[in-house]
Amino acid sequence: MNVLVLNCGSSSAKFAVLDAVTGARHLTGQAQRLGSAEATLEWTFADEKHTRPLPGADHDGALRAAVALLAPCGLAGTLCGVGHRVVHGGARFSGSMRITPEVVRQIEACVPLGPLHNPPNLQGIRIAGELLPTLAQVAVFDTAFHQTMPPRAYTYPVPLEWREAHGVRRYGFHGTSHRYVARKAQELLGLAPDAGALVTAHLGNGCSATAVLDGRSVDTTMGLTPLEGLVMGTRSGSVDPALIGHVARATGESADRVLDVLNKRSGLLGLSGHSNDLRTLEDDAAAGDARAALAVEVFAYVAAKQLAGLVVALGRLDALVFTGGIGENGVAMRARIVALLGFLGLDLDPSANALAIRGRAGRITRSTSPQALVVPTDEELMIAHDTAALVAAA
Ligand code: AMP
Repeated sequence: MNVLVLNCGSSSAKFAVLDAVTGARHLTGQAQRLGSAEATLEWTFADEKHTRPLPGADHDGALRAAVALLAPCGLAGTLCGVGHRVVHGGARFSGSMRITPEVVRQIEACVPLGPLHNPPNLQGIRIAGELLPTLAQVAVFDTAFHQTMPPRAYTYPVPLEWREAHGVRRYGFHGTSHRYVARKAQELLGLAPDAGALVTAHLGNGCSATAVLDGRSVDTTMGLTPLEGLVMGTRSGSVDPALIGHVARATGESADRVLDVLNKRSGLLGLSGHSNDLRTLEDDAAAGDARAALAVEVFAYVAAKQLAGLVVALGRLDALVFTGGIGENGVAMRARIVALLGFLGLDLDPSANALAIRGRAGRITRSTSPQALVVPTDEELMIAHDTAALVAAA
């Protein structure tokens, strides 16, 4: 059962054709720098990489070029559906949905909550519907997994009218990744889908962590938007909201402009002053760069502090699960975080930690209760799986 998975961002579109059961990738690719003269389409088919300039192409041009690859790759007749990553489903969606005009209207209604992400996601849905009209389209929401959070976890202590009239609350993101790695971790631990007390830590350029109790998200670090929570590549994570007014008054910038800096020029980039890439910063810190060293230290400290906070939502901890580019490969960062969490009973196994890289899953602690695991994420497979399941159910 092959599925075309689409992930449309503001100036990029990622696509993949994969088998929803085995996860085998038949075709993967992405269009980047859309809307500019430098727009390109890159794809990999049969282990061969290709690049083609698409000067001036927008999402429409990029998706047309991507769909045009299906027939020569022998994939056109093999698809059962198209799965779309949709970032913000608000409180309207607690699971993946077959796309209908009503579902599109509901995703449009979530645009005020996800103004950067939902419009390009909607564009992808519209264009795919035009280009592949006979295929079922499915929306898989980043927020859906977190709809099981109880009110105490999702309610912000702000006036009722903001909460009721403007949807101000914690929604949480990266839900597809947290759901996937939580299930894989349960399998590694020999647990049923409705068992276990896990903290899943998705650490990449974007970072979030989730408390997963008996297979359900009960708290998470990202909030109304993906800015809250852990320190990220360019996002600050949680800071005192009063800094927005303070910096705006001090610099004469607008609040929106300050918010933009918190999203795009803060986090590891803001701390170090030159890079959002943890690998670069670890190398620079080893070479004596004090700002890079502080960036690495703050990242680890804030991560450990918030991961420990999520244990409150669980009442106990069976396993801490690392995923994302840093979680799957950052041997030194995992060691730092696990060391800071030693008081929970986590005891790193340095050789197991060193081996768990480049897609390898496994336990990285000597301790078994609680333990720390590395589980590579696969959001595309989860999207393909949900798409195939909804198509089969219909
Ligand atoms: P992602 O957004 O999930 O692709 O993750 C990107 C982040 O993973 C970047 O900060 C990379 O520096 C980081 N990363 C990838 N490989 C390593 C590694 N071997 N050690 C430390 N960080 C890594």
